[in-house]
Amino acid sequence: MSLLELAGVSKSYVKERGLLGSAKRYAALHPASFSLEAGECLGIVGASGSGKSTLGKLILGLEQPDEGAIRFRGADWLNASAAERHRLRRDLQAVFQNSGDALNPRMNVRQIVAEPLLNYERFTKRELERACLDALEAVGLSAAEAGKLPHQLSGGQQQRLCIARALTLRPKLIVLDEAVSSLDRMLQAQILELLRRLRSEHRLSYLFITHDMKAARHLADRLIVMDHGDIVERLDSLTALESLSHPASRRLLEARLPGHPSGRKRIVEAGLRGAASPCLVHIP
Ligand code: ADP
Ligand code: MG
Repeated sequence: MSLLELAGVSKSYVKERGLLGSAKRYAALHPASFSLEAGECLGIVGASGSGKSTLGKLILGLEQPDEGAIRFRGADWLNASAAERHRLRRDLQAVFQNSGDALNPRMNVRQIVAEPLLNYERFTKRELERACLDALEAVGLSAAEAGKLPHQLSGGQQQRLCIARALTLRPKLIVLDEAVSSLDRMLQAQILELLRRLRSEHRLSYLFITHDMKAARHLADRLIVMDHGDIVERLDSLTALESLSHPASRRLLEARLPGHPSGRKRIVEAGLRGAASPCLVHIP
């Protein structure tokens, strides 16, 4: 049994209403089918607007598909009862791009990490503190950070905090939607390394959604390439990255993304662990 299975899942949005009020629909995702095994990292790569986030939202239950079936841990995720959904949801967490923006500015780090736990279990104050500190430690944040508010953290620390919050419930699957994309290359490399470590320590699976092939190659075991709402190519081994042949895949492979929004930092070619070929990192 796969951890996650999608069969013919599609999604369209109303694009515009004509003069007579007829709705024109726009297919954000054409019927998509794939599965993800426990402990695996599946990369979903594609240019902006290719339907990656739509796919992620459908899996997270934030959107309903037009058609198709989604099974999570063997259960019918779309038709699960409220109680079963609540139980399953605990195993399915998410980290988004600029997750820091979504953090409650009035809650401190400790409260933010504790929040998902309080939705599920009764804890003594002491147990809660232990669980929070464990989660913070796992992502490289110290007890000194526990009392801080989100705006007192750096961008990298905010992203670590969001990963800690996703981890506290010990999920089986984390949907990472452009989770490292807003970070400069050096921070990106650190967070990718953190995600790799957490994955093996906690036996996690990732759905790693990104427009950045270089980030995907560091984390993913397999790849799915999306273009205009379609899955256009699949790759079962990242060591065969250069064998990708669809024009959309080639464009992603050949894209040289700026390493930092300002583009000021010096970019060098360097072989990073796990990379099939050289990748970009920053020398600060
Ligand atoms: P990606 O994450 O690959 O950039 P998205 O899944 O966000 O792509 O979007 C795919 C397409 O669906 C885009 O053309 C986008 O404009 C459209 N879309 C996404 N969400 C909505 C929505 N809530 N309403 C209307 N159109 C949407
Ligand atoms: Mg997106």
